[in-house]
Amino acid sequence: MSRFIDQVINDEILNKLSLKNRYSFLNNNLMAVLSSEQFNFLKKVQKFCMRFEKKNGITHGPDEDVYDWIPTFGAEGYITRAHNFEMIDITYENYGAVYDFLRYLAIDMFDTQFAMGSGATVLAINPIFEHHENVPERLEALKDLATGKAPGAMLITEPERGSDAVHQLTTCDEQEDSSFLLNGEKVFNVNAPKAKWAVAYATAEKNNGNLMAQFLINTSWDGWSCERVGVPWVPKLYIGHEWFENLKVPKEYILGPVGKGREHLFEGLVPERIGIACGAISQCWGAVSHAAIYANMRKQFEQEILKFQGVGFLLTDLWAKTTNLTLGLLKFCEAYDEKMEKFEGKIPTNISRVMVASASQLKYHCTKLSKQVCYEAANLMGGAGVSDNTAMEDYINISRIQEIIGGTRQIQQYIMSMSLRQLFKML
Ligand SMILES: Cc1cc2nc3c(=O)[nH]c(=O)nc-3n(C[C@H](O)[C@H](O)[C@H](O)COP(=O)(O)OP(=O)(O)OC[C@H]3O[C@@H](n4cnc5c(N)ncnc54)[C@H](O)[C@@H]3O)c2cc1C
Repeated sequence: MSRFIDQVINDEILNKLSLKNRYSFLNNNLMAVLSSEQFNFLKKVQKFCMRFEKKNGITHGPDEDVYDWIPTFGAEGYITRAHNFEMIDITYENYGAVYDFLRYLAIDMFDTQFAMGSGATVLAINPIFEHHENVPERLEALKDLATGKAPGAMLITEPERGSDAVHQLTTCDEQEDSSFLLNGEKVFNVNAPKAKWAVAYATAEKNNGNLMAQFLINTSWDGWSCERVGVPWVPKLYIGHEWFENLKVPKEYILGPVGKGREHLFEGLVPERIGIACGAISQCWGAVSHAAIYANMRKQFEQEILKFQGVGFLLTDLWAKTTNLTLGLLKFCEAYDEKMEKFEGKIPTNISRVMVASASQLKYHCTKLSKQVCYEAANLMGGAGVSDNTAMEDYINISRIQEIIGGTRQIQQYIMSMSLRQLFKML
């Protein structure tokens, strides 16, 4: 089956819009700023994606299930490159925030919904990575998730508690054998209907953020039920609405005991927001690469439309903003990797406080840009840009969601305004 119902873009342009050429466009932009090791890694992931697309005849059409692809990408270590997993005998030559950004760039340009789905698995990986304490049950889950054997989900949001994530209504009651019984409801959790493992927060007392705890859940356990939520802008993702009814979590699966949940929640937010920023900027590159190729080939009034200022200057504006934010994000990722290495994973509070603000700034700015770039790039491709012939439809749709997830635009602004207050008090 093809990606589209009817072809409206001519063969020559459609062929030129291949994944290979879009990657080339990105690479020609990045070759000056990446080290040769970074650049080679980016090209390696791209080569893998191109081969995978060709070998499996992938069109990115509506009939394809992106969850089918996870095991193959997982086996290559392409679910995440944020960490080395020595505790489960998986070590990579290239890992850290920069390499994970480069991995994301290549995979998002291959398929943006697939990339977002694996991003949600990473949200489950990170807390297990931080708090496995070599407990075999947790290491088993980590291995499943990091190697693509199973997708994972992160369950923070509840129907009545979205932005206000620290006043949860889902409860956890400790039992005599040190296990916990969970009761409550979660919603909007990417991958949850397909996930084998989920990480969830609950509290020993409703609305009390000081008594939150963090749990690892096997979704086959009794007391877990899940329905799929429809989010039409990402039709290929399975997003869940879950109910816990006396869901028993054995003590081996408690990642954060009562009183530690909130700390774990905040600890996860910097990598989550940076991950969303990387995704958003990757979408910008996907959109700009399409529009740049299209505008250089499409002719109206006997001229390539790029030569009309209305098109060309808009495209340069989108391109410049995308390039500049990419450089900013890369710099942040480099600094993050350096600090993680220097302080052996425990960044001092004064530096990490600034990083919380930077993560909010980047999440805020990149997602806002993505919404603008993806829409405007499609707009200057005219009818072709809004048709189903290219991945532009996916970019327009997904880019409208990024401002909401991982803390809305207004919540990022709220965090940033509190940071301004702290900076003022430091004078
Ligand atoms: C596609 C998708 C995927 C998601 N994936 C996950 C996931 O994997 N795991 C997970 O746990 N959650 C996930 N979420 C949930 C997401 O994090 C929440 O939707 C988000 O935090 C907002 O919560 P809410 O929808 O309840 O909106 P609300 O919190 O009700 O907000 C509604 C509006 O009020 C504004 N608002 C709220 N409080 C304030 C304030 N103090 N100041 C100013 N404005 C405010 C918000 O900015 C927003 O505009 C996902 C959501 C979507 C749509």
